[in-house]
Amino acid sequence: MCGIFGIENHPEASGFTYLGLYALQHRGQESSGMVSWDGDNMRVERGMGLVADVFRPATLERLAGQSAIGHTRYSTAGASAFLNAQPIVVNTANGPLAVVHNGNLTNARGLRRKLEKEGSIFQTSSDTEVILHLMARNPREDVVESLLEALRVVEGAYSLLLLTSQGLVAARDPNGFRPLALGTLGDAFCVASETCAFDLLGAEMIGQLDPGEVVVARDGAVRRYQMGKAAQPSRCAFEHVYFARPDSQVYEDSVAQVRTQMGQVLAQEQPTDADIVVPVPDSGLCPALGYSRASGLPFELGMTRNHYVGRTFIQPQQSIRDFGVRVKLNPDRRLIAGKRVILVDDSIVRGTTSRKIVRMVREAGAAEVHLRISSPPTRWPCHYGINTPRKEELIASQHDVEGIRAFIEADSLGYLSVEGLLGCLSGAPESYCTACWTGQYRVASEAQDDRQKVLFPIHSEERV
Ligand code: AMP
Repeated sequence: MCGIFGIENHPEASGFTYLGLYALQHRGQESSGMVSWDGDNMRVERGMGLVADVFRPATLERLAGQSAIGHTRYSTAGASAFLNAQPIVVNTANGPLAVVHNGNLTNARGLRRKLEKEGSIFQTSSDTEVILHLMARNPREDVVESLLEALRVVEGAYSLLLLTSQGLVAARDPNGFRPLALGTLGDAFCVASETCAFDLLGAEMIGQLDPGEVVVARDGAVRRYQMGKAAQPSRCAFEHVYFARPDSQVYEDSVAQVRTQMGQVLAQEQPTDADIVVPVPDSGLCPALGYSRASGLPFELGMTRNHYVGRTFIQPQQSIRDFGVRVKLNPDRRLIAGKRVILVDDSIVRGTTSRKIVRMVREAGAAEVHLRISSPPTRWPCHYGINTPRKEELIASQHDVEGIRAFIEADSLGYLSVEGLLGCLSGAPESYCTACWTGQYRVASEAQDDRQKVLFPIHSEERV
């Protein structure tokens, strides 16, 4: 997961990066950080927590310069710790070098072992640091050459930004797993995981980085390179299901439109007799709207989300832990009681949250609860940067749909098909990665199952 933002050739680079990160907060809440470059010095600030907690006006003033890159982190590889907060900054023979990364390298462990044997000393447990070591060991006059050299041996998913004394560099892996959008703001060049960051700044999107592309911006001028590594386009479709913000354009599609259409197709594929359609907010909002439109059943905001519960919500005792979902979501008895409810959510991971939600809706007086999911069953862990648990913890890898229905205690359960989902996206079906639903991994991972640390680092019931 993670959100990245960078800007070059702007007098208020750190202030605008702060805003860009603010818009990308949904992509990671564990830690956040930024580095700036003023032509002489690189200055960095990192901290655990939300963007608004890490940066103060004085910090932004200290982060002087015309260019900056920043990061919001939700760890997929490496522990959730200050040590691993990005940007990672190092000094090389060619001057300081900073990197932020969204994605997950699939051969980082092997590369790291090799580098360590040859004398490299790593500062973090993050996969991203491998790229810096590879670059530092192979200094070239042109930083792009040294990056291209490093990326030749790196595999997996990466949307990267580097801040160097030679400019801001952006790179996207040859499969294009994670998004990365390019924009302009007056004479400045900016780059972001999602376009909602551009909207906040008043920047204009000029396109995406192509898979395998490296872009360098210096003093407002942009050079584009191709790595020339052949790979099958493998854009993450889960960005559209859950991860991205609805007001972003991801790849070539509007996230909100795609999600709404997923709900429409879901209604066609998984119809049922009921009285109202209720979203599980926020991720179920668009698909529920689509489901309601296609089925003709009324849309009701039968459940409200408290937006002020962070991932770090304190749960000191077991008795309080049980409030997890209730603290975030409250079903509205006045809208639900006596009704046959179609509840729409985007995905089921472990199934524990879904079961609690179904129970809550029933306790609020629903006559029936039919759960509809706007993506296919999540059966396989992601090795490309989305936080999913080990295979055994994914309920859909252990049970068929009827078994899942019984576990979550719904009256019926229906998922969107893979074909139905891909039909909602405007790219060719084979250009998207669907590994979490189909097990068809596009790039072999050294991790397969053993890499998986305890993902969803806090309590699963908080992830509603
Ligand atoms: P579960 O109880 O594990 O089935 O949780 C399902 C909920 O987690 C759904 O409401 C999803 O919106 C949400 N979800 C799906 N994928 C993720 C993810 N990678 N990180 C956090 N939450 C997620």
